[in-house]
Amino acid sequence: MKILGVGIATLDIINSVERYPEEDGEVRVLSQRRCRGGNATNTLTVLSQLGHACVWAGVLPQDSDAAFVEEMLRQQQVDLRHVHHLTSGKLPTSYITLSEESGSRTILHLRDLPGYRAEWFLEEVDPGEFQWIHFEGRDTDELEKMLLSLSAVEGLQVSVEIEKPRPGIEALFHLPQVLLFSRHYAQSTGHASAESLLKRVARQLGGQRPLLFCAWGDQGAWAFDRQGGLLHVPAVRIPRVVDTVAAGDVFNAAVIHALSQAATPLEALQQGCRLAGKSCGMVGVEDVVL
Ligand code: ADP
Repeated sequence: MKILGVGIATLDIINSVERYPEEDGEVRVLSQRRCRGGNATNTLTVLSQLGHACVWAGVLPQDSDAAFVEEMLRQQQVDLRHVHHLTSGKLPTSYITLSEESGSRTILHLRDLPGYRAEWFLEEVDPGEFQWIHFEGRDTDELEKMLLSLSAVEGLQVSVEIEKPRPGIEALFHLPQVLLFSRHYAQSTGHASAESLLKRVARQLGGQRPLLFCAWGDQGAWAFDRQGGLLHVPAVRIPRVVDTVAAGDVFNAAVIHALSQAATPLEALQQGCRLAGKSCGMVGVEDVVL
């Protein structure tokens, strides 16, 4: 399947520590790695490993960090022809603290780069070329223009990741075929469980709603199918949690892959939890499918 992913790439600087420090404290870093991150490019990297032809639409500055990211994506066979290079700005950088004690990852995100614009998408992307287009739910105005432009494209599946609350994003929930929510979004909008969020979104959208998914860390993930059934799959048990940084992005990739193969929502949840769980037991996402 040919898949376009629209969203960001970042540089991740990941420090592993024994336990998360107190404010104003000091702890020794056990190990450090520098890698490419960003939700859309993580998801594309995994989809590429699953055998899909992946294209990234996003923005990069012109610096050595961006060159590093491009090299990493090329190694994963991700096509970069819809990348826009800007002369100003800096590659978004995530400073991530990974606690070995809890497995949690705490992120400080530096962002000084404009986002991908709908006008580029409308001028340069031929949606008929793709079977699936996956968006990060970021700038709502830009996203709306892109989603509306796809409403009449036959045979195209569209998914949107809803990771964080964004002003007005709820008004776009009826446009894609698949919505992938995060626990962060659920909690930020007052929901203590995936079930509570998915039921409310389903109620608001009524009959013609997309398939709804919501991952919830070590409790696994939930989905709401089009018939109104709530589905749950527990997280897989892994001997040692090593790296949960991109678990949600791996989950999204596995769900998209499963649905593209005509899997049921329950099978998609199972595949999502299996691959995301596997990724938590290893470093990075570059070899998660091997
Ligand atoms: P993110 O915070 O990256 O958006 P989550 O933490 O919700 O994503 O995790 C996504 C998926 O990864 C979960 O649905 C689950 O299947 C898997 N997962 C996350 N943490 C663990 C864990 N500690 N053990 C096993 N699987 C996990």
